[in-house]
Amino acid sequence: MWAKRCKAYHDKAQEKIPKEKRQILFGINQGGIYEDLREKSINELLKLNFEGYSIGGFGMGETIEEEFKIVKAMRKIIPEEKPIYLMGIGTPTEILKGIAEGIDIFDSRIPTQSARRGTLFTSKGKIKILNEKYKFDESSLDENCKCFVCKNYSKAFLRYQLMNDEPIGKRLAMYHNIYFLTKLIEEAKKKIKEGTFDEFLKKVEKEYAEPKI
Ligand SMILES: [Zn+2]
Repeated sequence: MWAKRCKAYHDKAQEKIPKEKRQILFGINQGGIYEDLREKSINELLKLNFEGYSIGGFGMGETIEEEFKIVKAMRKIIPEEKPIYLMGIGTPTEILKGIAEGIDIFDSRIPTQSARRGTLFTSKGKIKILNEKYKFDESSLDENCKCFVCKNYSKAFLRYQLMNDEPIGKRLAMYHNIYFLTKLIEEAKKKIKEGTFDEFLKKVEKEYAEPKI
C-alpha cells in the first residue's frame, strides 16, 4: 500500500532532522461518497498511526449532504487527538459546518477561483459582481469588511475591472475573498469560546443559502 511505503520512508527521513523541525505526515482517506469504502480506507490508515488524517476526494460534484455524511462517519472513527484536514473544501458554509464536525484544517481553490469569476463573499451572503445592477453602484463591496479593497474601491469599480478581464480586478477580488474567510474563521473561534457557535453557523448558512444576485 502506498501510504505504508510513504510513512516508512518519511519516518526514516525525519530521524535525521532535529525534533522541532520535523514535518508531520497525514494519511489521506479516500472512497468517494461510499461509507463502506471510506471506512475500509480509514481503518487501514489508522493502523499506520499517522500524525493526522485528511478526508480527500471531495469538491468533485457531490452534494453537501453526501459530503457531511462521510465527514460525520470518519469523525467517529478517527481518534479525537488526531487533527483532521478536509481537503478541497472552502465555501463559508462548508467551512463552518466542517468546524462544527471537528475539522481542523481546510484548503480550497474556491475563494480565489470564485473571486476571479466574480462571485464574492460578503457579510450578507454571496454576490455576483458581474451583474448589470452593480454597473453604477458606488457603494463598498461589503460595508462590514475592513479589508483594503472594501475600504478603497466600489462595486462598480470591481465590476468594471473584472468585466474587462483586468488582472487588478482579479487580484482585488481574490484579496477580499481570502480576507473575508480569514475573518470568518477568527469570528468562529470567538463564537466557540463564547458558546454561541451554533447560532453563528445558522446565521451564515441562512445568508449563504441563496446567492444574492
Ligand atoms: Zn473586503
